Amino acid sequence: MTAPGFDPVERVFAADAVGRPVRLRGWVLRSRSSGGILFLVLRDRTGTVQVTGKKDVLGSAAFDAVEHVQVEGAVAVEGTVAVDPRAPGGREVRAAAFSVIDAGLPFPIFADQTEEFRLDKRHLAIRSQEHVATFRVKAELLRAFREFLDSESVLEMTPPILSGNAAEGGAEAFRFDYFGRPAYLSQTAQLYLEALLFPNERVYALTPSFRAEKSRTPRHLTEYLHLEAELAWCDLEGLLDFIERMVVHVAHALAARRAPELTALGRPPAELAALTSPFPRISYADALDRLAGQGFPVRWGSDLGTAEERALTLEERSPIFVTRFPREVKAFYMLPTAGDPRTVEAADLLAPEGYGEIVGASCRDTDAERLSRRLTEAGADPREYDWYLDLRRHGSVPHAGFGLGVERVLRWMLRREHIRETTPFPRTPSRHTP
Ligand code: ATP
Ligand code: MG
Repeated sequence: MTAPGFDPVERVFAADAVGRPVRLRGWVLRSRSSGGILFLVLRDRTGTVQVTGKKDVLGSAAFDAVEHVQVEGAVAVEGTVAVDPRAPGGREVRAAAFSVIDAGLPFPIFADQTEEFRLDKRHLAIRSQEHVATFRVKAELLRAFREFLDSESVLEMTPPILSGNAAEGGAEAFRFDYFGRPAYLSQTAQLYLEALLFPNERVYALTPSFRAEKSRTPRHLTEYLHLEAELAWCDLEGLLDFIERMVVHVAHALAARRAPELTALGRPPAELAALTSPFPRISYADALDRLAGQGFPVRWGSDLGTAEERALTLEERSPIFVTRFPREVKAFYMLPTAGDPRTVEAADLLAPEGYGEIVGASCRDTDAERLSRRLTEAGADPREYDWYLDLRRHGSVPHAGFGLGVERVLRWMLRREHIRETTPFPRTPSRHTP
């Protein structure tokens, strides 16, 4: 079976396929044999199909060889498509010839193993139907984000990942030796995107960010995919409007293009298709009132934690924006609110159903002196940010931007318990292998 011309598994289910010959190749999902008949489920990138083979057709040597193929072994088969109401999808392939590409060793993953064991074997565990569905949705999500940003004339940029600056003070930055000097893995591309905004006005980057935070929560990874954008001539209203249209676009795109995977993973596509903008907006001050009424007292000036975000969104069906945070809980570059110096022009977007923060957004301060002062207050050395402050000295204009955690969005949209299920090789404080 070395000749070209293999069919994808989905071909078996085409309208005109019954009675036709097919040639398939792929991996064995499961198999069993009884009474000289072999039942095998074959998987390729387009789907799964039942294949049956009879000893008297295949010959006993070939039959025995296929019978010994393990789960996840690789085979090729030639046969005819037949109707069989007992087979998944109502069709099967009746094999005329098999060839074993790699019989494989016994597959180490099966039901009822611990989560730790599965994480140790992640390189094999990612073959499960659940993971396959998850990463197909993820690929579609990335495509949909890019599609939206492209349609809004936002240009994709490629900021560096290695840097001599720790963008937000450095407490959560991974530090390493760079030829004898300290360097950091990027926590955010924002400062570089702000530099790139001046020649391009509307820019974004989809790059990994790294956070050395020991928080073992179901929503923190130490490496995650960060979608960040900076928009010139944009205020907070304009920014929130942009973000909600983007979230609605990607939700609708997934519902339309990945309905079977969403359904299989427990998220009815209709729920994503039903999302509409605008999203509800409440100020931080109103959020504190609401939380106090729910039995979660928060002191003005404290950040909202996981429990508070959960309480605010548990009963919601739409994401909600919390706006105008106290400046002390937010980063140095956020613009103070005109007429209320206690707050900044910032908003977090919280996913519904208790999932919590998925986007952090703000207008960026354009005042070099105030930025320098706030860097000092935050314990950083303004001289290290001189290149950033330069941006405020040469044609500085109002602008705003956001950072969105791709895996956070996926965790919400796919109703995953833990964020690690949304990335193939999760990095957490206790694990960076395989
Ligand atoms: P949190 O308070 O949840 O730790 P943050 O305020 O530190 O979030 P930002 O620095 O504003 O987050 O980062 C922008 C976005 O990146 C967040 O809204 C979130 O979606 C995502 N994000 C931040 N930290 C992580 C992480 N450790 N793992 C996955 N996604 C993250
Ligand atoms: Mg954080």
